[in-house]
Amino acid sequence: MSGEAIRLERDAAGIAWVVFDDPSAKVNIFTAGTVALLDRILDELIGNKPAGVIFISGKPNAFIAGADIHEIAKIRDAAYATELSRSGHRLFAKIENLGVPTVAAIDGACLGGGCEMALACRSRVATDNPKTEIGLPETQLGIIPGWGGTQRLPALIGLRAALEIIVPGKTLDAKRALKVGLVDAVVPVLALRAAAVKALGIERRRVRSSWWPDFIIQTISQRRSLAQTHGQYPAPLKAIEVAGRGYDAEARAVGEMVATPVSQNLIRVYLLREKYSKLQIERAARREPRPPIRKVGVLGAGVMGAGIAQWCSACGLMVRLRDIQPEFVAAGMQRIAAIYREGVQRQRLTELTAQQGLARVHPTTDFSGFQDCELVIEAVVEKLEVKRAALAELPARGIIASNTSAIPIGDLASVTGRPEQFIGIHFFNPVHQMPLVEIVRGEQTADETVAVAVEFAKQLKKIPVVVKSAPGFVVNRILLPYLNEAGKLLGEGIDLAYIDNAMVLFGWPMGPLRLIDEVGIDVAFAVARELAEAFHGRMPVAPILEQLHNAGLKGRKGGRGFYAYAGKKEQPEPQFKGRAMDANAIQDRLMGVMVAEAKEVLRAGIVASEDDIDVAMIFGTGFPPFRGGLVKWARDTGVW
Ligand code: NAD
Repeated sequence: MSGEAIRLERDAAGIAWVVFDDPSAKVNIFTAGTVALLDRILDELIGNKPAGVIFISGKPNAFIAGADIHEIAKIRDAAYATELSRSGHRLFAKIENLGVPTVAAIDGACLGGGCEMALACRSRVATDNPKTEIGLPETQLGIIPGWGGTQRLPALIGLRAALEIIVPGKTLDAKRALKVGLVDAVVPVLALRAAAVKALGIERRRVRSSWWPDFIIQTISQRRSLAQTHGQYPAPLKAIEVAGRGYDAEARAVGEMVATPVSQNLIRVYLLREKYSKLQIERAARREPRPPIRKVGVLGAGVMGAGIAQWCSACGLMVRLRDIQPEFVAAGMQRIAAIYREGVQRQRLTELTAQQGLARVHPTTDFSGFQDCELVIEAVVEKLEVKRAALAELPARGIIASNTSAIPIGDLASVTGRPEQFIGIHFFNPVHQMPLVEIVRGEQTADETVAVAVEFAKQLKKIPVVVKSAPGFVVNRILLPYLNEAGKLLGEGIDLAYIDNAMVLFGWPMGPLRLIDEVGIDVAFAVARELAEAFHGRMPVAPILEQLHNAGLKGRKGGRGFYAYAGKKEQPEPQFKGRAMDANAIQDRLMGVMVAEAKEVLRAGIVASEDDIDVAMIFGTGFPPFRGGLVKWARDTGVW
């Protein structure tokens, strides 16, 4: 069966190896074709029983990444989705009922349907490869595990532990998977095959159970999920409802979820992310593919310069970081070290990786080491004259990028003498967390420069959106009027808590006034003023923002703003107590200004498509993904 996505190999010991190795793809996924093929292979095994069966991938670092999301995206019919779930149940029941020992030998991603297949095996062995992750991420797409995951996982590790994975759509590394009992052994990659053979001899493990009655576990889980999602995501609740309640309940629930607009929107956002993460810019013919960038220079070691330097170094690049005074560079290095420390504390990286990353950043107060940087990113203070002076003395040969929030690229490019190699690469704060970068093309920026910037963003695992240079680009230009309008409502005497709560109910991770505090009142005010000037009074700064700024308040970083911050808790400042207002009316007004500005951005040709705006707002501001995007939402609700 060579050339097919799955091979069946029988060895001298009578063991059947079911090898997933799709020659036409980098990862293995379950398409309609692979499912049919697996079904035939299982029938063959049933007809000619081996001593044991081992399911394994022929690809290094990749087991089975799940079902084909492009296929799921096309499903609109609940009954059809239910039937697909049932056929998955029949397929994996064949594995469960083979009557011979079965083992999943897992190296790399074992997600969704891949995990459900592994759960149908008698035991599971995983490698300690950092690429190994096991879990059921379905709820993140607005659906639920549909090939037995909501039944077999609780049966294996108990309802409580299972819901902790299924409800948020979590994946576990091998160590954690072992701890909860999702896998039976963790071994080095080289030992995987031998360990799988050994595991064939292991009897089925005793099921872990909890002392807690199921209905209590379900109620707690429901409350927690509701508190986090405000009931806007139906899939986690559905998963709680059907977990352990039988395959038929699961199949019907899959049908219900696939048909929801939430799931269709989340899948749309997933596919958009995938598409933009692979963005290709047309380059002049005959150009060799460029090697990845190895060394970058960063000007300015402030909030953004340090954040950019940290992230570049975390992605394996060498970084030269310059500021004008030794104490400023030192403060920047402290910031970088703090981000790494936090990563270690949260177990996102090891101590060693953090140390190696930090060691790739070389601080300086002069320009030594800048000459051979392939790319220099300017992140000095947001003042035209300071930026122009900093760029004028820069001895760089490669591409120069500015991280400006709002200054037109053309106003900066001219001092470099090479405007075709000048571009904006606008990161968002905090750089290590925000997935978006705006790639800002100036009038004279060459296509090749745009292509390099896009490749660079991809190298940094960011999502690039290419925009034309215009004040505020896309994200700030659309977000600022919204923040401003919230300030105006407050000025009209509406209660701060009503305003912020209304937008949290809409699905924003936090309300607009909290967001201003988070961004920093100084930063928000500076951008608001730039936009007000650029658009000649079309976007006047909300008086309340100006007042707080003049009073020297900075928001969360300074301890006071619209809220007072003590420890982790924030309290609305008493002066912002005011009248109640209907949440829908607040949402209409605040979303209305955003939509109006999005139309302007499109009309002015700042971006090429409506999707560009949706991607920018979801990944640059936290616009609620379950609404599919700003424009998508506006079109769905008829306000476009
Ligand atoms: P910041 O004030 O924290 O840092 C600026 C740093 O630049 C300071 O340390 C300063 O000493 C240094 N500097 C000044 N002149 C210099 C020179 N000639 N050479 C080297 N360093 C010099 O500012 P920030 O918040 O990091 O903003 C930097 C840029 O990033 C601005 O253009 C800003 O608009 C943009 N930006 C900021 C945010 C944000 O949320 N803070 C988000 C996106 C973009």
